[in-house]
Amino acid sequence: VIALLLVGAAGRMGRAVEQAAAAAGDFEVMGRVDVPGSWPPGAQGWSADPASFAHGRAVVVEFSSPEGCRAAAVHCAARGLPLVSGTTGLPPEVEAGVTAAAARVPVLRAANFSLGIAALARALRAALGALPPEWDVEIVERHHRRKLDSPSGTALALASAARAQRGWPEGALRFGREGRAGPRPAAEIGVHAVRGGSWVGDHEVLLAGEGEWIELRHVATDRSAFAQGALAAARFVASARPGLYNLDDVLSAKGR
Ligand code: NAD
Repeated sequence: VIALLLVGAAGRMGRAVEQAAAAAGDFEVMGRVDVPGSWPPGAQGWSADPASFAHGRAVVVEFSSPEGCRAAAVHCAARGLPLVSGTTGLPPEVEAGVTAAAARVPVLRAANFSLGIAALARALRAALGALPPEWDVEIVERHHRRKLDSPSGTALALASAARAQRGWPEGALRFGREGRAGPRPAAEIGVHAVRGGSWVGDHEVLLAGEGEWIELRHVATDRSAFAQGALAAARFVASARPGLYNLDDVLSAKGR
């Protein structure tokens, strides 16, 4: 059984991880960290400070805020605890703190904890490696109407990976088209953001040749997709050496 310390435990992801951990059977949540006003009424086992939990070996799973991430990284480095971290939009000094912790403990960071997206990224690399370079790459993503950033970080990561594999400069990404955009340049990757309704996360990579095309598509239907990936990551770091890891390392470990 792997002990878990959840940071951001009252949040949407914290609750999704707790629920998935209870169903998985090989985890025990031994502590929950969140800001005081967010604790459920009459809650036991909650604290605002990760250091208030004394435990020999727990994996810290953090989906909170930049400050929560910073505190989790400091705590993990000081106590020798593995860290799984998913907070997005970290300022550079917090990223640096996470990297510093990875010199002492295993740390797994991902902007998207879906194992399906990690597998899609692999499939994309394989397809680009096999196809003639004239095939066009376009990415279409859909998210709910409340999402603040466009395109999604995941679409950007997929587009950047494809761009790098083709050896094209950063300016090759094209965000939407309108007016007389003219014929499509060969060294271009179109990225298109659709917003509306309650889509959790839908990413389509279109690879288009002459008279044929391929669609690689991943759809997340709810947060449990990210929670399952976070638990797979927790199993991975529980027995990993210190270092900075990503979800592709989890896929590789599964294949062994
Ligand atoms: P949320 O707002 O529902 O939950 C965040 C929780 O963290 C809240 O309960 C909040 O009180 C708590 N928190 C804030 N500061 C804290 C601190 N200093 N210490 C402890 N707890 C603190 O948000 P969410 O949807 O659960 O997302 C949380 C973060 O995870 C966001 O950055 C989001 O973008 C990211 N996220 C990442 C993935 C992924 O796959 N990597 C998936 C979903 C969300």
